[in-house]
Amino acid sequence: MPHADNSNMQLSLNNTDASSSRILIADDDPSILLLLKHILLAEGYTVTEAATGSEALELCNNNEYELAIFDFVMPDMSGIDVCKILSHQINDTPPVLIVTSLDDDASVDKAFQSGATDYITKPINWSVFKNRVSRIVKAEQTRKVARRLEHHDPLTGLPNRLLLLDRLESAIYRAKRNNTHVALMMIDIDNFKLINETLGHDKGDLLLQSLSTRLLDAIRETDTLSRIGGDEFSLIIENIERIEDIVQMAEHLSNILEHDITLGNQNIHIKASMGITLYPQDGNDIGTLLRNSDIALHKAKDLGSNLYHFFSPDLSRKAFRRLNLENNLRNAIDNKELVVFYQPKVELTTGKARGMEALVRWQHPEQGLIPPDEFIPIAEETGLIIPLGEYVIETACKQFCQWQNNNIDINNISINVSARQFKEQDLLGLFKKIFSENDIDPSHIELELTESALLNNEYHTESKLNKLHDMGIKISIDDFGTGYASLSYLKRLPIDILKIDRSFTDGVLTDPDDLAIINAITGLATALGLQLVAEGIEDIEQLNKIIDLGIDYGQGFYWSQPCSADQYMELLQRLALNK
Ligand code: C2E
Ligand code: CA
Ligand code: CA
Repeated sequence: MPHADNSNMQLSLNNTDASSSRILIADDDPSILLLLKHILLAEGYTVTEAATGSEALELCNNNEYELAIFDFVMPDMSGIDVCKILSHQINDTPPVLIVTSLDDDASVDKAFQSGATDYITKPINWSVFKNRVSRIVKAEQTRKVARRLEHHDPLTGLPNRLLLLDRLESAIYRAKRNNTHVALMMIDIDNFKLINETLGHDKGDLLLQSLSTRLLDAIRETDTLSRIGGDEFSLIIENIERIEDIVQMAEHLSNILEHDITLGNQNIHIKASMGITLYPQDGNDIGTLLRNSDIALHKAKDLGSNLYHFFSPDLSRKAFRRLNLENNLRNAIDNKELVVFYQPKVELTTGKARGMEALVRWQHPEQGLIPPDEFIPIAEETGLIIPLGEYVIETACKQFCQWQNNNIDINNISINVSARQFKEQDLLGLFKKIFSENDIDPSHIELELTESALLNNEYHTESKLNKLHDMGIKISIDDFGTGYASLSYLKRLPIDILKIDRSFTDGVLTDPDDLAIINAITGLATALGLQLVAEGIEDIEQLNKIIDLGIDYGQGFYWSQPCSADQYMELLQRLALNK
């Protein structure tokens, strides 16, 4: 048989080569499996075996075959069932030959209805078998070549619109089954027409090729990029865990696409607009999703300054706000727009403020006071958490020093440190500098870390934590109870304080589980000699219950919301008068 490489295959559809044809055989009877394998190997095919239906399905999902031969009866999943599932997965499904000993009409009907290409009955007549296999494989090879030509864009080699529809339908099918999301992103190169007209189509083609390479480099292997029109690309993104991931992806792609090129002696600024829809939020079928992503794309183009736009107005608003925040956050630190608020930590037996927690806010010139939950995560992602964290620590320490100098009894101050900040910031150096410049006893400083921040990269964590603790700084575990099941680190690491997460305080009167958890934490803290703080006490009933449970300290709106340094002085007076 003549060897045919890929380029030949495109020209001569009739020349097929068994050795380039992969066949999957699935049968639970090892002797039949062996027999089939031998016959097929002797014919020159490449053979893969599966002993169960589910194994066969898995193999089909991850590999390409020119033919799948399934036994009708298999214990876990019949050949017919595998066939049915495969036929829903539209793209790249191999033709299926069903091997059956049940040659009555009903089972033959069943085989065809489930999408099988053909069937053969046991006992197998081997020459009929070989003929049938060869016929199906040849037809499949021809179909594949034709499909490739029909389904790909010759300029970039990317899937075209036709294949996009196929892939989108399969993606939706998978998402439906696994209860996940799919994003469809339309990408349009701004002013491409102009580029084409002024520089000519050859240059335009070159640009499109280079853009498609850029995009391919930036996406994951599981995402499908296609070219669906002159300057329009589309991207299917599967397995989305968080909507923020899509926002990040969109930002990443627009960064990658935006660049200057020199074509001839002209310098051209390239950028793109994107419209994004989500399954199932914005539509349940491919038609609706395509339509809506086009609408979103036009919106993005209309808005001009906005590089991407979600079909859902709500997501769009969020994404836009986020993009804005990210850009402005860089300036906020320099412009002194960040302010530190303070919330008292109250000693429950005396009702006296015995410390405070520093909580950052962003006083945005247009948007007003922005809470940390909205910008700390962005600061973490972008690395801005390092200068931001430094600012908070310095501000809080200076404020503490000033109060101390005015003979105001603050006792101690605790400062939040997020995961990346703890990992990357030179906290030791920073505090050495602060303690050398300000008259502060390190034992008045507490750092609040979450369990997740402490438990990644353990070795590093331990020595860093020990050094801070050796300086005299206290270590507090924030949001305690929400994180890890393993508590052994409490003994190993130098920890002084546990802050019981607000969600437990919230349910202490109403949810027996919350009460049980608080009881357990109290026992643990007593045994290990740790100070306990209940977060989020909002009313007198919760307060009384928390006191009954023997917890020493509390924080919450019952006493005060976090407030500015000035307001804090009034608050202290009010608390002093109360008791
Ligand atoms: P967190 O460390 O758990 O801070 C406690 C949060 O609970 C604060 O929200 C506080 O205002 C709120 N809170 C206090 N008492 C009550 C109450 O009785 N009821 C309710 N519902 N809430 C109460 P905030 O200030 O919005 O801070 C949110 C989170 O942002 C903080 O959670 C902390 O993880 C982070 N954060 C705040 N400031 C900083 C900072 O300077 N650096 C870092 N890395 N993270 C910070
Ligand atoms: Ca905290
Ligand atoms: Ca907390």
